[in-house]
Amino acid sequence: MIVLVVNAGSSSLKYQLVDTESEVVWATGLVERIGDEESPLTHRTRIRAGADADLVETSTVSPIHDHTEAFRAVTAAFAATGDVSEVGQLAGVGHRAVQGADQFSEPTIVTPEVIDVIRELIPLAPLHNPAAVAGLESAMAAFPDVPHVAVFDTAFHSTIPAAAYTYAIDQSVAREHRIRRYGFHGTSHKYVTAKAAEVLGKPVDSVDLVTLHLGNGASACAVRGGRSVETSMGLTPLEGLVMGTRSGDIDPALVFHLITTAGMSAAEVDTLLNKRSGLLGLCGQNDLREVHALAANGDADAELALSVYVHRIRKYLGAYLAILGRADAIVFTAGVGENDPEIRRRVIAGLEMIGVAIDTERNATLRGPSAPVDLSFRGAPIRVLVVPTNEELEIARQTATAVSA
Ligand code: ADP
Repeated sequence: MIVLVVNAGSSSLKYQLVDTESEVVWATGLVERIGDEESPLTHRTRIRAGADADLVETSTVSPIHDHTEAFRAVTAAFAATGDVSEVGQLAGVGHRAVQGADQFSEPTIVTPEVIDVIRELIPLAPLHNPAAVAGLESAMAAFPDVPHVAVFDTAFHSTIPAAAYTYAIDQSVAREHRIRRYGFHGTSHKYVTAKAAEVLGKPVDSVDLVTLHLGNGASACAVRGGRSVETSMGLTPLEGLVMGTRSGDIDPALVFHLITTAGMSAAEVDTLLNKRSGLLGLCGQNDLREVHALAANGDADAELALSVYVHRIRKYLGAYLAILGRADAIVFTAGVGENDPEIRRRVIAGLEMIGVAIDTERNATLRGPSAPVDLSFRGAPIRVLVVPTNEELEIARQTATAVSA
């Protein structure tokens, strides 16, 4: 099935045209700076060149004021360089939606009522859900003849038990404001769970894993029987691991301290914790490649940043192994997990006593594998896998399943 996968941000629109069976990516593209007078559109396609050809890139810059104009520009790019219809019939459009809260646990065919519910959830995701609504409405206008499906980042975590998702605060306040842990990156955790099950030769509903999605944003997930039972992000994607620019876990009283003692506004604290913290706050760089380069030159802040980053992951790993009681594998994925041998080595160093042991030479040279790799020593009770994630393919597949149901 041919599916267009759409990821609408507040000022950007990413898309990918995917064949869900052959996994051929027919086109990818990105519109940036929506709302500007000079908005670049980069469209890459192999539609006219064939499935084995390289993607050919075309770039344009034009004023794109909103998501409706962005989709108009995208359909014009397809018309100019090879239309979707040249590779098959579009079966549906799959939308990445961040916050589905407790309302959506499955990929959902989008109707005006569904858009209303996503709109109602805006207070829980003020940065993400307005863009999701704009993206859905404009995409439905641009592709009116096919079903649209929303795939929520929170959905995979809908199986987390109350003991793990409940914050220990006054429950009348929590209920009134829908405050609980929801978790994010679910599409990625779900995809790598299924891939890991394949590698382990087990049915997905019998794998127990700790999955580590380490990208710019980062989260850990405890998977029991193929289902999420605990994850490190919470009400918002701020909780948990140290990220590129987000602090992850802090003492919540730090917020009051910054407001009452440091004289910051709530908005300034929000920006501090989401945009000026994490690796960036610790050493001035949010990209781990840069952090490693600084550390290699003896930069003490960068060395500390690496230690804090790794320590937090190990803390979650230990906690999740305790929650699960057993695990088939620890799975590394996303930009850092797939590309950074040093972080992987430090995360699992010294865990031999619990049955985790890897081939360190294999690990040291493994960067960006195109297929899953098992790094463990033969016979190690808990395997260590590097599994490249593919959220677009997962969204496309879930869309295909939803439209065929
Ligand atoms: P996101 O999708 O969250 O933006 P990615 O999963 O693409 O992020 O991960 C981006 C991060 O991955 C970068 O900020 C960088 O720290 C890290 N990264 C990417 N490539 C490498 C590499 N070759 N070595 C180390 N880190 C890498």
